[in-house]
Amino acid sequence: MKLLLHICCAPCSVKCIEYFRKEKIDITGFWYNPNIHPLTEYTKRLETLIEYAKRIELPLEVIDYYGLRTFVKNVADDVGARCSYCYKSRLNMTAEYARNNQFDAFSTTLTISPYQKHDLIREHGDEIGESYEIKFLYKDFRESFRTGQALARENNLYMQKYCGCIFSEEERYSKSAGGFKKTLK
Ligand code: SF4
Repeated sequence: MKLLLHICCAPCSVKCIEYFRKEKIDITGFWYNPNIHPLTEYTKRLETLIEYAKRIELPLEVIDYYGLRTFVKNVADDVGARCSYCYKSRLNMTAEYARNNQFDAFSTTLTISPYQKHDLIREHGDEIGESYEIKFLYKDFRESFRTGQALARENNLYMQKYCGCIFSEEERYSKSAGGFKKTLK
């Protein structure tokens, strides 16, 4: 099977790639993540993946699109529900690329994270797969999350501190600082 694997970041990809290779699935990595902000963080994650893919000889397709304005425009009215748009935009692009380039299926490394909304990813993946007439391969990798992160550290991969969007960055650091308002006092 020829699988196009959407990769959200190098650390999350470690165990997913290992699994698919063990299953003798022919994988190509796919980068399309306009949800990662700011630009310096986006660049760091992309460069890490490019270097890692070379190291493990993984074919990698890159759509290098930062897309901050479009992302923010689409989620700003309902920031709490933003992950739905975020998953859809990335899975849509992956499915379209997979269909146009003769892949048999598409998948995503997002499903290794216990912090992601798996039901939503699966629902959107299946719907998008149907509309592009290509199979969405859902695999729950959550039990490999900790091992994968440890392996990524051993491999000296850049480890990000928040999910990706500017809103997740705010959540991450306002919590660790004891709340944004508090830090202003
Ligand atoms: S929290 Fe993560 S999944 Fe949700 S919108 Fe932000 S980057 Fe996307």
